[in-house]
Amino acid sequence: MTHYRRILKEHTAYFSFASASALAFFLPSPTVNPRKEMILVTGANGQIGTVLTEALRGAYGQDQVLATDIKKPEGHTGPFEMLDILNTQRIAEIVGDYNITTIYHLAAILSANGEWNPQKTWNINFNGSLSILELARAQGLRKVFFPSTIAVFGPTTPRDLTPQHTVIEPTTVYGISKAANELWCNYYFNRYGLDVRSVRYPGIISYQSMPGGGTTDYAVDIFHQALLTGHYTCFLKANTRLPMMYMDDSIRATLELMAAPQESIKQRTSYNLAAMSFTPAELAEEIKKHIPGFTISYEPDHRQEIAESWTESIDDHEARKDWGWKHAYDIETMTTEMLKQLKLKYNHV
Ligand code: NAD
Repeated sequence: MTHYRRILKEHTAYFSFASASALAFFLPSPTVNPRKEMILVTGANGQIGTVLTEALRGAYGQDQVLATDIKKPEGHTGPFEMLDILNTQRIAEIVGDYNITTIYHLAAILSANGEWNPQKTWNINFNGSLSILELARAQGLRKVFFPSTIAVFGPTTPRDLTPQHTVIEPTTVYGISKAANELWCNYYFNRYGLDVRSVRYPGIISYQSMPGGGTTDYAVDIFHQALLTGHYTCFLKANTRLPMMYMDDSIRATLELMAAPQESIKQRTSYNLAAMSFTPAELAEEIKKHIPGFTISYEPDHRQEIAESWTESIDDHEARKDWGWKHAYDIETMTTEMLKQLKLKYNHV
């Protein structure tokens, strides 16, 4: 049994103790909804989508998960359709043709890349997401997952242990669009009862896939360069502390949030989510424990300003209380795992 199928099974076992009405809502039954769970993932070929799609296929079945993106898949081989999130007519056709019941809407332009073309970023991030919510409402879909981000926070937000409810005045177009989308998620839940669930991911660190143009990308690049060249030139300053999370934790958080009983979901904007916070200098020290000759230098660029507008650590106790979130990886275990997996990839012994 895969790790993710086990999560699903544990939650299904939990559901069997829940009230009859809650069960009716969550479990597909002929009297409530005869359709099988059929999942659409947008932006499925990105850093998170590549791994999440595989995890969903492991949990729900290979053919139950349709991956879509504007670029062709490299990492996975199941059902796939080319889909531009701005093509609302095509999304509606796909939802109908495949009997989609749940959408994981990942397609977006990330923080650093977003600043190159703010209008395009707003259009894809904001309008793309709003049209997914509207389609889900109009077609009576079961659930929508919307990934938000620590980029919704800004320079006026408390920087340490940022609370769930706090000042949200982001300075990037990425943060502005995600903050607006969070409010629309809340609106669609309150106004229409749409079961939309969301987390504010910190920077995600993965060996399976490369990051797509965010401000925390250094925390992935550094591992590749440590193994390939023994040196990394970091685009952030040595002491820039940011919240981060290992990919395994972020995927498990996503599956656990989506499998939780509806009554336990209290935040319909987006949940704070945390695992670890570190600086580039601290990560370099951790890598040196495994690769003693590793060196790092610093050439901060435009991403430094974005990083400084974000918070340093996140208070995620609401997620822990409401649906049992618990991270597994800290900087030590994440570093060990990243180097182990990438050594296999690069055939290092
Ligand atoms: P990514 O940039 O790696 O992937 C995004 C995918 O969206 C890409 O494959 C891209 O081709 C696709 N895409 C872009 N424009 C599109 C369009 N018009 N139509 C359809 N697809 C389009 O991003 P990711 O890191 O996988 O992030 C996934 C989601 O998680 C995003 O919504 C992002 O905001 C959020 N998030 C990611 C992180 C992180 O550290 N990776 C942190 C916080 C939030």
